Amino acid sequence: MRMVFIGPPGAGKGTQAARLIEKYRLAHLSTGDMLRAARDAKTEVGKKADEYMSTGQLVPDEIIIDIIRQRLAEPDCQGGYLLDGFPRTIAQAEALDRMLAETGTPLDVVLELRVPEDELFNRLAGRGRADDTPQVIRQRLVAYRQQTEPLLAYYTGKGLLESVDGLGAVEEIFDRVTTVLDPLAR
Ligand code: AMP
Repeated sequence: MRMVFIGPPGAGKGTQAARLIEKYRLAHLSTGDMLRAARDAKTEVGKKADEYMSTGQLVPDEIIIDIIRQRLAEPDCQGGYLLDGFPRTIAQAEALDRMLAETGTPLDVVLELRVPEDELFNRLAGRGRADDTPQVIRQRLVAYRQQTEPLLAYYTGKGLLESVDGLGAVEEIFDRVTTVLDPLAR
């Protein structure tokens, strides 16, 4: 199964993703994790990315698209993957479509985890990651609304979007998600 997991920061994607990759045996491709690793390793890409991450803005498309192109070519992705935090812009989604068209391996599903914005703010503020100051949190939510939310219409148009309510207990949400994914798993 090739899936995109989409949702605002703080929606609980990471928690659900960890369980989903176990259940469906998928490679977990989190661009946030990749960028944090690059930042901590102080690579050129990492240093460049940090200029954006530290203020809650999106890293430029070219950087992210390069990272994903290389990652998707690795052997563990051939058995299916979960894209977590990518694509986040229409340009990224279009680049992904082109890459997957070249290899004849289209997406199976785009799953949206839906959580109201006031709930997100509280969750993010309570999480206490170093980069989670109120101002950065606000900027990350703005980036989601302005740049990432348009993907919902984009993928609806392609008949790929499924939306799941992201409020409730972790187990409850997992049940909702797997109810949608089970028929697609192979
Ligand atoms: P995340 O852990 O997915 O919330 O990502 C943390 C930060 O990394 C984001 O706030 C962005 O600055 C950056 N980032 C991660 N994925 C992307 C992406 N697909 N496009 C642009 N920036 C990204």
